[in-house]
Amino acid sequence: MTLRQRYDGIIEWFSENMPSADTELHFESPYQLLVAVILSAQCTDKRVNMTTPALFERFPTPQDMAAASADDIFPYIRSISYPNNKAKNLAAMARMLCDEFGGEIPSDIDQMMRLPGVGRKTANVIGAVVWGKEVMPVDTHVFRVAARIGLVKGAKTPRQTELQLERNIPSHLLPIAHHWLILHGRYVCTARSPKCAECGIREWCAGADTQKQTPSQKSKRNTTKPLLIQRTTS
Ligand code: SF4
Repeated sequence: MTLRQRYDGIIEWFSENMPSADTELHFESPYQLLVAVILSAQCTDKRVNMTTPALFERFPTPQDMAAASADDIFPYIRSISYPNNKAKNLAAMARMLCDEFGGEIPSDIDQMMRLPGVGRKTANVIGAVVWGKEVMPVDTHVFRVAARIGLVKGAKTPRQTELQLERNIPSHLLPIAHHWLILHGRYVCTARSPKCAECGIREWCAGADTQKQTPSQKSKRNTTKPLLIQRTTS
């Protein structure tokens, strides 16, 4: 199978079976999404969604957060991974947002990356979700799944994965392809126990059946219908 055939088969399958896909983070404004994505580093979306309602009630606007100190923010995010660093970043991010950008999230990826706590992946997520930019944010799921499926070869960094995916996926599909890969990695092609026997893209996957499977997963081989991602309410 050529790389092109692999991409074409997988894109066609996701287009048919997952015509819409979106972030599982809860938000009502670009500011809220930016805060949620910063908090989601090394943390589950589910945990972030449990935390943000109280945080956004206390700091509903960038101006409210800019007026706060890291110590003010910390109690609201203490159950999230790395709360000290994230509280400092949120306070500094909100201050720069208000001082230099009038409280509006910049649409330019490089400008966004100047904000404390905002790396390339976070800026690309905001760009893709808020402005529909044709970019490929690479998080831990995308990095792992793209390599395992054989969509990228030899990528040592998220940036290398990003560039290879951008070369091979039609630009207009990049924002949704990002969600396809994240959700597939989260619910089907999981890190420790990929559900190959039930996977809808198995036919085009370089890693199919080379992954460790539990006995019950092996017994399901060829007896089950392709597994569509089970979206959870998180
Ligand atoms: S066939 Fe297995 S390794 Fe390949 S994408 Fe599906 S779950 Fe992942």
